[in-house]
Amino acid sequence: MLHIILFGPPGAGKGTQAEFLQREYDLVHLSTGDIFRYNIKNNTELGVKAKAFMDQGKLVPDELTIALLESEVKKNPAARGFIFDGFPRTAAQAEALDSFLHARGQEIKALLSLEVPEDELKQRLAERAKTSGRADDADPAIIQNRIQVYRNETEPVKAHYQDKGKLIGIDGVGSISDITKRLFDAVNRIK
Ligand code: ADP
Repeated sequence: MLHIILFGPPGAGKGTQAEFLQREYDLVHLSTGDIFRYNIKNNTELGVKAKAFMDQGKLVPDELTIALLESEVKKNPAARGFIFDGFPRTAAQAEALDSFLHARGQEIKALLSLEVPEDELKQRLAERAKTSGRADDADPAIIQNRIQVYRNETEPVKAHYQDKGKLIGIDGVGSISDITKRLFDAVNRIK
């Protein structure tokens, strides 16, 4: 089993790169953001709950997110491994993921952290807003809020995996294919 966390601030390129990793290593890509947006589109109970937080650039509460993640992992019993994209986003989610996997005799192999400076993130999100139709991309104040939430609540997840010797930093600036290559090189070293 090859379980990888693809980590980084909003706009770091996780979704784009996760697709390449998924294909290269035959993994299941699990994006909590995509799952929430799918539920919002289909107006499910989960979607209605999540939307209220997402539109403001806040995190969806841990309880809801952890339960969702566990049910998605269980839906894929034949997976050769997962790319976790957008999860874990809090220290509590990281603890929950570790114990959930541990109970199944599995573990996170590495956290690949895409490093991108803040100015570049803001530019990318403003650019994405033109086509994404995402309410949380459209407003600079909400983008700022998401970056702040990332610094306060999500960055500690990095330290959590660093303590376990599983943090790998990846330069997230450059062409899409350059960054893909950096990620593949990192995965090939740990696989
Ligand atoms: P990005 O990383 O580009 O901001 P995502 O698509 O990963 O976007 O997430 C969009 C929104 O979905 C987040 O701002 C948050 O409200 C919600 N969300 C996604 N994943 C989580 C999570 N693990 N915990 C809490 N909220 C989440």
